[in-house]
Amino acid sequence: TNVTVAIVGRPNVGKSTLFNRLVGKKLAIVDDTPGVTRDRREGLGRIGDLTFTLVDTAGYEDANDNSLEARMRQQTEIAIADADVILFMFDARAGLTPTDEHFARLLRRASKDIHVVGNKAEGRAAEPGLLEAFNLGFGEPIPLSAEHGLGLADLYTVISQAV
Ligand code: GDP
Ligand code: MG
Repeated sequence: TNVTVAIVGRPNVGKSTLFNRLVGKKLAIVDDTPGVTRDRREGLGRIGDLTFTLVDTAGYEDANDNSLEARMRQQTEIAIADADVILFMFDARAGLTPTDEHFARLLRRASKDIHVVGNKAEGRAAEPGLLEAFNLGFGEPIPLSAEHGLGLADLYTVISQAV
């Protein structure tokens, strides 16, 4: 398939953990494109029989002349422009932070297929955060544990709908 799925969200929510799980280290391709996209990673993602192009957004944590907010905006807007499906990841145990709300505002402007993914949801501690994220207005959050490989069936469902 030629569906492109981007994982977007603030640092430390588990984007790269999900990327590595779905792409597999042997298949990961490091993209050395200079500029704002130099840390963007793209690879062939796979869940069961479903394959797709997966993009891991990163890099705005790096030292840069630009403000954090400007880097976030650039990365998010690049991901929005290129992707068919956007997985907006937050840390379900931590709940929504102001940085998450900032991402939500950027994403709300995009007329793309956006799914909220509540990562680190392997325990009960994720439940309040998942309820909170319902209020973002992107539909029912998908509980996920990128580290433990839980919730992948729900990801399969939303990605296969876009294929
Ligand atoms: P990124 O900055 O969004 O790419 O986040 P990373 O993938 O680098 O993960 C940040 C931290 O969260 C790491 O310490 C991971 O081990 C941890 N992490 C990732 N996924 C999970 C998960 O499903 N559950 C828990 N408890 N920790 C996770
Ligand atoms: Mg990362």
